[in-house]
Formats: sequence, structure tokens, C-alpha cells
Amino acid sequence: MRYNKIRKMDISNGPGVRVSIFMQGCVFNCFNCFNPETHDFKGGKEFDDIVIDKVIDLASKDYIVGLSILGGEPMHPNNIEGTMRLAKRFKATYPDKTVWVWTGFLMDRDLMDKEALKYIDVLVDGQYKDELRNPMLKYKGSTNQRVIDVQASLKKQEIVIYDKDEVPV
Ligand code: SF4
Repeated sequence: MRYNKIRKMDISNGPGVRVSIFMQGCVFNCFNCFNPETHDFKGGKEFDDIVIDKVIDLASKDYIVGLSILGGEPMHPNNIEGTMRLAKRFKATYPDKTVWVWTGFLMDRDLMDKEALKYIDVLVDGQYKDELRNPMLKYKGSTNQRVIDVQASLKKQEIVIYDKDEVPV
């Protein structure tokens, strides 16, 4: 699996100041995708344990409140194992920092049985739909997308929308 880039301090993807990583490869091809350079599974760079170590190290700063994993498609079958390894290491190292993941898949339709969900706090799901774009939306690009509290959803076995406005613990 491969990744496209890491941002050491990202204030545009999720609450607070975060480390973010963009995974490489996506099959959805949403019209007006914000990140077309991440679609080719052969693009980007090798994702390995050195990259995971780097992300963990970058997140050690007190002002970093969490990790955001975007794409590309972090939950594509080619990428989900690496996404899980990263999220699992991150939560083991920083249990008080949050992991947010953006995906074009739907949690209840496609992902409910995926182990990776155990290590994700918030999932923003659904493909970007340009005709439903609204720049005022928080954490998502189009109105069809959902900002999901993953752990509450797993507990209830139904989608629970994340409703905290401030930086979560
Ligand atoms: S799922 Fe995300 S990365 Fe993939 S095409 Fe759609 S907006 Fe772009």
C-alpha cells in the first residue's frame, strides 16, 4: 500500500491541530474531488513502519490533539490494513488523542464488520457529491456525508452522528 503525503500541523481536517496523512488510491472518482492526485494506487510513496513511526513521533507534541486519515481511500481493501495498523498504534500510544478517518464507503453498508473501526473515533463517510456541496458544512464537503461517532455506533449497532462542536478529548 502507498500514501500521498503527511501534514505535520493540519487545522483544516477535523477539530484542533492534528497530524494528517493522505492514503494513496481511490476508485470512486467523485466529480470535482478535492484530491485527484491520490486516485492512482501506484502513485505516492511506500507506506511502511517507518511512516507509522514518523506519524507517531509528529503527534507527540502537546498541541496535536489527534490524527486525521484521508485520501485517496483509507478504507479501500488495498489500504484498510495499513490504516488499521496506523490507527491501532496511534490509539495505543495516545489514548487521549482522537483518530478521524474520511471514507467514500458507508459505515453501515460496507464497514460494520471491519476491525479497523475499533481504533477510529470519528468516521466521515460517503462519497463527495458536488451537486450537494456546501462550503459551510463542518468536517465534510457535501450534505450527504455523515460525521459518525464510531464507538457509539458500534455499541448501538446503528449509526450515531457525532455531535460535539468543540475539540473532543
Ligand atoms: S472518495 Fe474522496 S478521494 Fe475518492 S474520489 Fe471521492 S472525494 Fe476523491
